[in-house]
Order: sequence, then structure tokens, then C-alpha cells
Amino acid sequence: MAIPALTDNYIWLMHDDQGRAVVVDPGDADAVEQALAKHGLSLRAILLTHHHHDHIGGVEQLQRAHPVEIYAPRDPRIDHVNQRVGDGDVVELFGPDLCLEVMAIPGHTLSHVAYAGAGYIFCGDTLFSLGCGRLFEGSPEQMLASLDRLSALPGNWQVCCAHEYTASNGRFAREVDPENPDLAERLAEVAWLREQSTPTLPVPLARELATNPFLRIDQPALVAWAERNNVAGSDRVGRFAALRHAKDQFRG
Ligand code: ZN
Ligand code: FE
Repeated sequence: MAIPALTDNYIWLMHDDQGRAVVVDPGDADAVEQALAKHGLSLRAILLTHHHHDHIGGVEQLQRAHPVEIYAPRDPRIDHVNQRVGDGDVVELFGPDLCLEVMAIPGHTLSHVAYAGAGYIFCGDTLFSLGCGRLFEGSPEQMLASLDRLSALPGNWQVCCAHEYTASNGRFAREVDPENPDLAERLAEVAWLREQSTPTLPVPLARELATNPFLRIDQPALVAWAERNNVAGSDRVGRFAALRHAKDQFRG
């Protein structure tokens, strides 16, 4: 389930049938405590994707209150960690039924990781619905390689992003991929969900592959968009960089 926190963050929570819970990127401890109390769960693990405060701000308080294993990438900017993880590691939570593989996905930050398995992809601030994270530390080439890796996961897995940015991302997506019927359908759904303050997430990866311009840069519509913006059709990284740059400038 998604716990809304701070302005537009989601803290993802999973639990087993014995009430043992894990949360991903708890930027706010109080929001987690309320969800645990409401559903009668005990917190056993915390997964962190990257060092930004809106993802780790609640860790210290939760660690003081619960016997938690804390998993995080090797980055000195993340404290209070007892399990450092890197690409290819497998995190086994509550036994072998819930195994998540760690994927190094640099771009938004250099040490950013995703946790993927059991039908879920916890991708932090790398992949958003209809968008992707800003390049604070990595290069366009690194971010594109990271998105390519996420794109190769099974299409029916649920993408669990760390922010509710779908509606504003959608305004940009519609500008660059205006003829896409799957995008039009998703935008209508997103508008309806947001009217009722319902999360637009999670979303199946296959649906993102059909609608997210940052996962569709090889599609004719996006190649044509890039060519109109003076990026040669053969320059895949250039196309991605131009798209990310245009999004940074976009005021929809
Ligand atoms: Zn971030
Ligand atoms: Fe964030």
C-alpha cells in the first residue's frame, strides 16, 4: 500500500500474513507509525533507494522505535544502516517468499538503487509514472541505461514510484507524444483519480512502456519530436538528453 507523506511522497508498505511489515523510503516516521497502528503491523525492515531527505528523513525515529533491518546503497550520505546493498544483491524479507533484487540505477543520484521482485518495482526517484527523475548527479547516458534496465523487467510488475507526479508529468507527455491513444486513456484516468485524491500508483510496467515518453524514446513519435528539436535520429542518448532538458524547461 502507498502511504502519502510530506507534500507528494509515497512511502510503500508491504506486509506478510503475520503482520510483519517493510517500508520503502520513509521520509516521515509519523506517517509510517499511523499506518502500522491502523493495520496492526510491526515494522521489521526499511529499504532505502537514495540519500535525499524526503526518502530517509524518518529512518532515525523508526529505528529507535522498532527492531528493524535497514537496507541502503553504499553511500556515506545515508546513516543508520545495518545492511549495505549493491547491484545483484538479493534482499530476503520475512523468508524466501519475498525476495527483492537490488539494481544499481544511477542517474537521479549516483548511488540510487531499485528493489525489484515479487511483482513489484520500488524505483525511488528514477522512474515516475509518465516521467523520470531529474539528473542531479548522473549523466543522461547513465539514466537512460538505468531506465532501460527497469524497462526489461516483467510487464505485469507494479511500478511503485516515490512521488505523485503523474498529472504534471502527463502535461509534458501529451506535448511530446500527442497522438498516443494509450496516453490519452491514462491521462483521463489520472484526472479522475486525482479529483478524488486517489493515488495514480502503482501502475503496471507495461502501461508505462506504452505511455511514458522517457521509456518510449525509440518510438517514431519521439524520434520525430527529437528531429524537430535538431537531434539526429541515430543519437539515442542525445534524444533522451533533449527530452529530459525539455521537461526541465516545461511550464505546463
Ligand atoms: Zn530524490
Ligand atoms: Fe524524492
